[in-house]
Amino acid sequence: MSIVAIVGRPNVGKSTFFNRLIQRREAIVDSVSGVTRDRHYGKSDWNGREFSVIDTGGYVVGSDDAFEAEIDKQVELAIEEADAIIFMVDVEQGVTPMDEDVAKLLRKVKKPIFLAVNKVDTASKVESAYEFYNLGLGDYYTIAGISGSGTGDLLDAVVASLPEESAKTDEDLPRFAVVGRPNAGKSSFINALIGEDRYIVTDIAGTTRDSIDTKYNRFGFEFNLVDTAGIRRKAKVKEDIEFYSVMRSVRAIEHADVCLLVVDATRGFDGQVQNIFWLAQRNRKGIVILVNKWDLVEKETNTMKAFEETIRKAIEPFTDVPIVFISVLNKQRIFKAIETAVEVYNNRSKKVKTSQLNDVLLPIIQNNPPPATKGKYVKIKFITQLPTPQPQFAFFCNLPQYVKEPYKRFLENQLRKHFDFTGVPVSVYMRKK
Ligand code: GDP
Ligand code: GDP
Repeated sequence: MSIVAIVGRPNVGKSTFFNRLIQRREAIVDSVSGVTRDRHYGKSDWNGREFSVIDTGGYVVGSDDAFEAEIDKQVELAIEEADAIIFMVDVEQGVTPMDEDVAKLLRKVKKPIFLAVNKVDTASKVESAYEFYNLGLGDYYTIAGISGSGTGDLLDAVVASLPEESAKTDEDLPRFAVVGRPNAGKSSFINALIGEDRYIVTDIAGTTRDSIDTKYNRFGFEFNLVDTAGIRRKAKVKEDIEFYSVMRSVRAIEHADVCLLVVDATRGFDGQVQNIFWLAQRNRKGIVILVNKWDLVEKETNTMKAFEETIRKAIEPFTDVPIVFISVLNKQRIFKAIETAVEVYNNRSKKVKTSQLNDVLLPIIQNNPPPATKGKYVKIKFITQLPTPQPQFAFFCNLPQYVKEPYKRFLENQLRKHFDFTGVPVSVYMRKK
């Protein structure tokens, strides 16, 4: 998916515009950097074309120098990651020295640049925008991010500049994405698989610039391994490396069927790892958790069990996820990891017959019906799996609005218990019949 970055100094209206673009969609806040900056990532679409947006933020506390360095980094990030850049300036402030600095950096860039003069709330301000020609970036768009005025023309142009979505790989093979924090051992894992395996077919260029796909054949099963760590950037700052890596994970997850989440056992299942986990879950992807570097952990009788419990606690209520303890270094259980991913893939593509669903679940529901609400009884009449790429089930009943979360969770658990959806988010919908 193409990425559009919004750059510009603080207070010009970047986040206002960003929020308008992503509307109710989910934004990821890059909280690593915390105090010094706040970066947002979200999905948007315009005229039916989906794209990702980064608001590079740039809220900095500190000296002017720190400020400038920050802007430089922000622009660098945009230049590296984005397919198109929206450079936002503020008509009320006019051209500032910092705008000039950013323009200087952007003039050298080959990517499409769109100069957006913001806060043009009234026709009288249109003329004040002329001075922005001085930035040497050519034509500009006058917009008011707050009301949306002018943003349509801007977005038409931005979307038109985006590269064609690259065609999918020749075959529609299952895609396994190897994701996780930097240094968890993702590349080592893939190298270990590739180095040892005679069944590798080819290396093919990735469908996105940021991942390397390797066609892989094992257990009589062909799939694409998506390596998010394969391409390293020359980021100087630790949190930038982290951010790039999150960005790549986001993209890889969107394109994957199953995510292999590699966790560094010596660092634990921390907040950053959990973010990636929930990202995969929200995208309804299959998940396998690989606890790597198990060789480095001092083990006592219950170490593995305790570790596993900590993870399951953190991923509640979606705890039906395989956790495999591996050591890439010792080549311990790395094929087990792949085998598990294949199982999860099969669970995710599983289709349960309507007759089977009803035969198994209706008697259970009869014995444990939804609790009555306001004296009304819910009667579930039949169940069917929807024809979606991932498991979704419709429970037809007389009063769908009376079925609450806990009962839906009960139904989900019954589905898991009887049909095995380990590693796969399952959706339960109540429908009126
Ligand atoms: P950022 O720091 O670049 O992300 O800027 P914000 O989005 O936080 O906006 C800074 C200020 O400008 C806020 O008070 C916004 O309400 C205001 N603002 C944003 N867009 C517009 C606009 O189109 N017109 C006017 N008058 N104010 C705006
Ligand atoms: P990536 O950033 O997730 O791709 O991580 P790398 O594959 O580059 O690994 C980061 C570091 O961890 C490297 O120094 C690896 O040698 C090391 N590493 C990876 N897997 C293991 C493991 O199972 N055990 C130990 N002890 N070190 C490992």
